[in-house]
Parts: sequence; C-alpha cells; structure tokens
Amino acid sequence: MRTLRLGLIGSGFMGRTHALAAHSVGLVFPGEWPLACELLADVDPLQAAEQARQLGFRRSTGDWRDLVADPQVDIVDICAPNHLHFPMAKAALEQGKHVYCEKPLALEVEQSAQLAALAKARERVTLVGFNYAKNPLIGLAASLIERGDLGEIRHVRGTHVEDYLADPERPGGWRVRRSTAGLGALGDLCHVLSLTQRLVGEPVSVCADFQTVVSERPDGPVENEDQMHAMLRFHNGAIGAIACSRIAWGRKNGLTLEVTGSKGTLYFDQERQNELWLYRADSVGPSGFQRILLGPDQADYAAFCPAPGHGLGFNDLKVIEMRDLLAAIAGDRPAWPDFAAAARIDAVTAAMATSFENAAWVPVTSSTSGSAGNNQQE
Ligand code: NAD
Repeated sequence: MRTLRLGLIGSGFMGRTHALAAHSVGLVFPGEWPLACELLADVDPLQAAEQARQLGFRRSTGDWRDLVADPQVDIVDICAPNHLHFPMAKAALEQGKHVYCEKPLALEVEQSAQLAALAKARERVTLVGFNYAKNPLIGLAASLIERGDLGEIRHVRGTHVEDYLADPERPGGWRVRRSTAGLGALGDLCHVLSLTQRLVGEPVSVCADFQTVVSERPDGPVENEDQMHAMLRFHNGAIGAIACSRIAWGRKNGLTLEVTGSKGTLYFDQERQNELWLYRADSVGPSGFQRILLGPDQADYAAFCPAPGHGLGFNDLKVIEMRDLLAAIAGDRPAWPDFAAAARIDAVTAAMATSFENAAWVPVTSSTSGSAGNNQQE
C-alpha cells in the first residue's frame, strides 16, 4: 500500500463533490490505498488558494498545467467544463498520471478515442464520472439480468430529465455553448447511457430528434439542444428509447431506466435511488412490482451502514466511484467506465447528433463522424 496523491482541477459543483469523496473514501473503505488531497487548480491563484483551504487540499495553483506536471501528484482529477477535459486528460496521461475525469469525456468522438488509446498505450488507470452507475442497486440489476431473471431482453426505456434550465430567464453559462459544452441536454445528461451500457450493452444504431426551445438567455444565445429523444437498437435485437431534457419542469434528477425481458421487468428511478423495482412474470400470488430496498447484503452499502433501508445519497455514489479508482490503481480490478467505455458512450451521443442532422438512422461506430458539438439546432 502506498499513499496516492490527488490533484483536483476545478472546484465548482463537481470539484466539491470529488473533494468530499476524496476525504471520505478512506473512512468508508479502509482497505483501499490511502488518498491524500495534495494540489488544487482553478482559474486564478487566489480562487484556487481559497478553494484549497475550504476543500482541504495542501497546496493550490492558478494554472492546471502546473498541476498535471507536478511530481507530487499521482492522480489528476478533472472537474472543469467539458471542453477542457481533452487537453487536460491528454496532458496528464502524457505526464504519466492516472486520470479521473468528469463526463462527457470529450467534445469530439475522435478526441475520446484518442484519449482511450493514449491511456492504453501509457498503461494508466482512467475512470469517468458516471456516478449513478455506481449505485449498488444498479449492480444488483446487472447481476439479475446476467443470471437470466429477466429472460431475453426486449426493451429498454431511459430518461434523464431535469429542470435546471426550464426558466428561460436563467443564464445558461458554459453548458449552452458548443465551444465549452458540446452537446446540450444529451451531453450533460448522458448518464442514462452509462446505465444502459452497464445493463444491456451498446446500441448498434440510433435515430434521434433534438430541439432548442429557449434560443436566447440573459447571458447570450443558446447553441445546443434543450431536449432530445432517440430510438435505439441493441446487439441482441432489443429496441429502446431515451429522452433527455434540461427544461422538464418539476424533474430534478429524473434519471430512470426500465428494462423489460421475456420473464419480467426492472425499473429504477434516481429520485428514489434507494429502491429497485422488479416484476417477475412467473411469481405466484398477487401480481405486481416488488420493491427492493438498498441494504447491507449489498457490500458497497454495508460499507456505509449496517441497517437496511436507511439509504445512500448522491455524494455516497462518488465515494464508491473514488474507491473504484483506488482499487484499479492498486491492481485489484479494472475501472469502469474507463476512457475506452466512456469513448463508446461519446460515440453513441455523436451518432445521435449525426442522426438528427441527417434525419436518418445512424449506426454507432467508434469512428462515427460528426462532433458532439456541431449539430445544427432548430
Ligand atoms: P462548475 O461550473 O460548477 O465548475 C467548474 C469549475 O472548473 C469551476 O471551479 C471553474 O472555475 C473551473 N475551471 C474553469 N476553467 C478552468 C481552467 N481553465 N482551469 C482550472 N479550472 C477551471 O461546473 P460543474 O457543474 O462542476 O461541472 C464540471 C464537470 O463536471 C463538467 O464536465 C460536467 O459535465 C460534470 N458534471 C458531472 C456531474 C455528475 O453527476 N457526474 C454533475 C455535474 C457536472
């Protein structure tokens, strides 16, 4: 065991969440290699110093390039806006660092593929922040599907709908500009595709519709989609549909996934993240969905709490994610979703953007042309 030293870039919403996880992971999972909060980078030295003080980092810098080159940093943790992921992750890998990066991995599918290849060539551990897939109930759902409880998978229905930009008077910030965000609602809420990847695998082709509803906000024009939906076809013959929206009034974290097979259905809703719903067609007695609550029979829940039904929260999923990173660096098991898996998710979103541009079904390939950021909006 050796202490791993974390370098965090960005200290907004996600930076704070990663810092909380970094401080908690050793307490919740004491068997992992220790993690030290070494260096924090943000846009200027004063802001970085203040954030380092608040978030418990030893040192700070106003230049992320100093952080990726710092010999006292083992893991570069990227919590900056989307367009910075590629240059930061590339530089970090070239410096021989392990890289933990927020989603989406990059703006262009070619950049994601390049990062995945570089990580492989440099034999570095990578992990992308698809935290909702770390819920032990998603692990349980995957094992139920793997052991055949749902039978042959026939349909997948996913949503990730929120209302953080439902108010047209709300500034869009970096998330509504193609140069800084790439895609809009789909890029931001692509978590639904990580759940799909975990439970069902990759779609082989997609057909999507995108729409920008609020074209102008107080801080400027909106350049990417507010809402979208898409049809999907999977390897095994299953079909499905997803919808993403950032203007869905009333939905705060409407990440849902329903998977139906020949023998039953599984349903998950992130707004009730401690429940998984299972319908078995062959169950005896009154027909209906069974509610499975998180409990200590799930090892990653037991690490937090010995009592069933007491619940995990959003930040706990990041602690599990951070544990996965440390376990992979220690060589215990591969990290998922690593850059290769995240690049496949970016290939799906890029295929959806191309589908919308061409008004056609589009096959998903790692070389899907089209950028996650250059779709034409209506
Ligand atoms: P944010 O705007 O709250 O924070 C961004 C941070 O990056 C700020 O501290 C900002 O000052 C800093 N930053 C900007 N440019 C920088 C630069 N050149 N050098 C160093 N720091 C810089 O954004 P956020 O909501 O925290 O989103 C950050 C990333 O996390 C995005 O990629 C987003 O998609 C992702 N995200 C993931 C989840 C999740 O659930 N996994 C949730 C929200 C955001």
